[in-house]
Amino acid sequence: MTQEYSIFWFKRDLRIQDNPALINAIKHGLKVIPIYIFEPDLINDNHYANRHFLFVKQSLENINKQIKSWNSFIYVFHDDALAVFKSISAKLAIKYVFSTEETGIKKTFDRDILVKKFLKKSNVKWIETQNNGVTRGIKNRDDWMQNWYNYMTSNILNINIEKSVSPFIKKTEFPTFENLGYPYIKEENNFQKGGETLAHNILDDFISNRHVNYNHHISKPAESRTSCSRLSPYIAWGNISIRQVFHATQIAKKNGGNKRAISSFSSRLRWHCHFIQKFENECRIEYEPVNKAFNNIQYTHNEDHQIAWETGKTGYPLIDACMRCLNQTGYINFRMRAMLLSFYTHNLLMEWKNASPHLARQFLDFEPGIHFPQIQMQAGLTGINTLRVYNPIKQAKDQDPKGLFIKKWIPELKDVPEEYIHEPHKMPPLEEAFLGLSFSKTYPKPIVNIKETSRISKNRIWEIRNSIQAKKESLKVLEKHVIPNIKRNS
Ligand SMILES: Cc1cc2nc3c(=O)[nH]c(=O)nc-3n(C[C@H](O)[C@H](O)[C@H](O)COP(=O)(O)OP(=O)(O)OC[C@H]3O[C@@H](n4cnc5c(N)ncnc54)[C@H](O)[C@@H]3O)c2cc1C
Repeated sequence: MTQEYSIFWFKRDLRIQDNPALINAIKHGLKVIPIYIFEPDLINDNHYANRHFLFVKQSLENINKQIKSWNSFIYVFHDDALAVFKSISAKLAIKYVFSTEETGIKKTFDRDILVKKFLKKSNVKWIETQNNGVTRGIKNRDDWMQNWYNYMTSNILNINIEKSVSPFIKKTEFPTFENLGYPYIKEENNFQKGGETLAHNILDDFISNRHVNYNHHISKPAESRTSCSRLSPYIAWGNISIRQVFHATQIAKKNGGNKRAISSFSSRLRWHCHFIQKFENECRIEYEPVNKAFNNIQYTHNEDHQIAWETGKTGYPLIDACMRCLNQTGYINFRMRAMLLSFYTHNLLMEWKNASPHLARQFLDFEPGIHFPQIQMQAGLTGINTLRVYNPIKQAKDQDPKGLFIKKWIPELKDVPEEYIHEPHKMPPLEEAFLGLSFSKTYPKPIVNIKETSRISKNRIWEIRNSIQAKKESLKVLEKHVIPNIKRNS
């Protein structure tokens, strides 16, 4: 009789421990072919960049290291998913495919439909397992919160690699890292490195030391880099599960961790899933506002402003410092992300859709299910959340009072005196010359008048928000996405 196999398709769940889909594959008893597919369609998508695939590569290398004692490795492909499944099934008899549910962009949704069709035709059963308590196909959020807590407090599913026999197939002719090579992934050093082992080290460090200033520093662009957990890329690419992180918070609370800080942090774990659930329920928001009434906003587009925003040359020092820092390191904290988006839509008056690809490419933690709903929330397009238009000068004075973060990321401004650092264009030319400075030759003056553009933006949003259509749409948004008894701004 022909030997039958299962395939385990690693997607955004790049870990061995607490991976329910992997446990499911192992439980089914057939030898498992573990695969990862680098898809040209995603590599070329304008939401993705080299940094993401480098993180994936590092994550896969870490899994390979862990399963070395099993004498196994992950098979890696560089092709369309459909072509990969066709080629594997042409060589081996496949009975099952296992994977974790993916709440991705339209491209991955459409690819899954094609793969599903092919597998069905080939009599292969594709078994998907829920991801981090996000539930497919629910109509409202009535029981969501309770179900989420039930899941997060349930047991973590560990595999004892040392004490178990490899569930994976030993040798195939399929490519591995050793024999494929990755000419299309460039090595870069500025970013957080991927991998399950590192994810746990970072979690431990946060829980035992760094969390104490979590609330204090959460909005500050410099301090938040160490006081926030920095787990986002590890969670987004599945190096660690939300359940593992949640369990760590519960233990920390019992063991004398700062309760307020840990509670704020763990509510964000719930927000993570809550946002992804929104996108899972309504993936059209990749393309249109969640509140359809806002489809009617007339945006402008100015390519010079787009370039200035993307490269950190708007003349607003905190905006530029945040963008340059994000471009170079793949990370900026929540408040500054919100401010960058606010500046784009409320001050440059340009459409959120054109801000999304650049930010997604820069965020190492690009997670479609958080990205699109957050962008729309910050752009004021939900009709139900507080409208926040951030003033980048006030934010700079509040969050970077001495301008240290600004000076770090904008070397042109490093010698500007503190009193002018938030608005360098206000420094009289004579004073600039007197101090031997010449930043005004290289650093631009503000490209827009934020007072004026904020007013235009607020007026046009409120005009739509007060319309009958927007109110009707808001009711639908509330019904579909809002968890009963929970704060409106999540
Ligand atoms: C416009 C915009 C786009 C964003 N895009 C992404 C994205 O693509 N991927 C992403 O992970 N986060 C995104 N966020 C949310 C947030 O900024 C990041 O999760 C956070 O800054 C990551 O840093 P951290 O891991 O140190 O967070 P911590 O504060 O330590 O929080 C722990 C975890 O909770 C989750 N979390 C924290 N804040 C939020 C939030 N406001 N909403 C949902 N989940 C949250 C993340 O998984 C995070 O890793 C976006 C925010 C905005 C305003």
